[in-house]
Amino acid sequence: MLAGESVWSICTRWNKGGVPTVTGKSWTVQTLTSILSSPRIAGFRTHRGTVVGEGQWKRIVDEDRHDALVAALAPRKSKPRQGRTYPLVGFLVCGKCGGPLRSLARENGGRSYACRKGPGMGGCGGIRIQTNGLENYVRDLICGMLADPVTRAAMAELTPAAAPGAMSDALADLHVRRERLVDLYTEGDIDCATFRTPQARLDDQIKTASEQ
Ligand SMILES: [Zn+2]
Repeated sequence: MLAGESVWSICTRWNKGGVPTVTGKSWTVQTLTSILSSPRIAGFRTHRGTVVGEGQWKRIVDEDRHDALVAALAPRKSKPRQGRTYPLVGFLVCGKCGGPLRSLARENGGRSYACRKGPGMGGCGGIRIQTNGLENYVRDLICGMLADPVTRAAMAELTPAAAPGAMSDALADLHVRRERLVDLYTEGDIDCATFRTPQARLDDQIKTASEQ
């Protein structure tokens, strides 16, 4: 781990190689992280998370290595990943499979909306459309509608159930959180089991918010 291998990759290697935990279960990122960062393996006794003295057992790692492990395993305080969600995410669906179009950034700076397949994406991968052309198209459409007095009068009649701005902010926030979760999974910071539960919950919340 100190040589740069991720906890997730070590767990995967051990699970594939048939190396069980002491209780015979599969390794999870949480289990291995809690062991590696525990003062007990460096020979310290703890009480409620605080080191209270030296233990009567043989240490597995020395104190320097323990400190290095704790530092390496500490939750990263780096600023949160910037959300990559674009303004129309949540309003667009794929014409081929009906899945949601998601934001997609290319390394060359190209931005697009895309139906994405792969872990947590749930699409067919069949559609990709440049952001600029599409966003301009939608802007012109909306400006055209707003310029029409009949449409404006009809919209004035509408009484939204809740403040629509707050609702679309909440929806955008859910999309940002979902993309961060997918980032964590694809970069190996969390394993598949850890990924699935919050992913399903966020998908439910996004579905409800979209319907509202
Ligand atoms: Zn699709």
